[in-house]
Amino acid sequence: MREIAVTGKTRVCGVIGDPIEHTMSPVMQNAAFREAELDYIYTAFRVPAQGLKAAIDGMRALSIRGLNITIPHKVAVMPLLDKLDPLAERIGAVNTILNEEGTLTGYNTDAIGFRRAMVDKGTDPAGKNVLVIGAGGAARAIAFALAEDRASITILNRQEEFEWAEGIATRISDSYEVPVFAAVLNRQNLERFVPLSDIIVNATSLGMTPNSRATPVPADLICSGQLVFDIVYNPYETRLLREAKANGAKTLDGLEMLVWQGALAFQLWTGQSAPVDVMRQAAIKVLSREK
Ligand code: NAP
Repeated sequence: MREIAVTGKTRVCGVIGDPIEHTMSPVMQNAAFREAELDYIYTAFRVPAQGLKAAIDGMRALSIRGLNITIPHKVAVMPLLDKLDPLAERIGAVNTILNEEGTLTGYNTDAIGFRRAMVDKGTDPAGKNVLVIGAGGAARAIAFALAEDRASITILNRQEEFEWAEGIATRISDSYEVPVFAAVLNRQNLERFVPLSDIIVNATSLGMTPNSRATPVPADLICSGQLVFDIVYNPYETRLLREAKANGAKTLDGLEMLVWQGALAFQLWTGQSAPVDVMRQAAIKVLSREK
């Protein structure tokens, strides 16, 4: 494996969030920089909510080329930037910043990464009925990406946060002429909407390690002909994906979205296309160690 030689000209990128210890981004990005023989390095910074402004000032002062932004900063970072990519502005969340000579622009590569993962597997969501389970940050980006692609969207979220799901639906309907419907996540609505869906997306943290026995959709509701996309990437194969495969459905795992959102950030920072396979292998190596 090639060494990372840090020089006086090395460009610095990183990820900020809190907590941050479990991020996969340094492994993927440093593998990509090495593969492309770029004089770049990527590291993780734990930044609590009250330290966000100082961190963004620091990005300017230290000429940090790029940052990924994760929980809890994706919304709060927006007013601290100079420019916003139109999709990030519509979504209302930023996960990637590009620093061009002190001008900071915010992007949302979660949304584009989700879409690229689907397209890469030969699925076009245009005109399809898509069920999105969850209404958190990732679900919101995904719902906007699907609306850009003219899918018909249903969002299911658990009772406590139902108004939030309705808010996303209203905002999407205001920006795009696509049908969007929000309802409560319960057995009755799953029985109603899962059979009507061409694509089912789990955008909740249900099924994520250490609660890997949980699943958002009862196995008996999934059938062949459907595509089940679980954006949870740890474990690599979730219970939802195992059960969907057993029922003959097509599946897409969260690692694909993770890799593509990282690949798109790499492209913004370096101007080069990303070595996607190298990034995927680097992430798989870590995830299989964590099993
Ligand atoms: P978030 O903003 O905290 O949202 C979490 C979502 O999960 C909310 O809709 C929440 O519902 C729901 N949820 C949590 N526990 C639940 C339960 N027991 N029953 C039903 N719903 C439950 O987090 P996020 O950033 O959107 O991330 C969600 C998941 O996606 C995480 O597993 C994360 O690792 C993964 N993710 C993957 C990628 C990728 O590239 N593959 C990118 C981003 C995120 P309430 O709103 O009701 O709490």
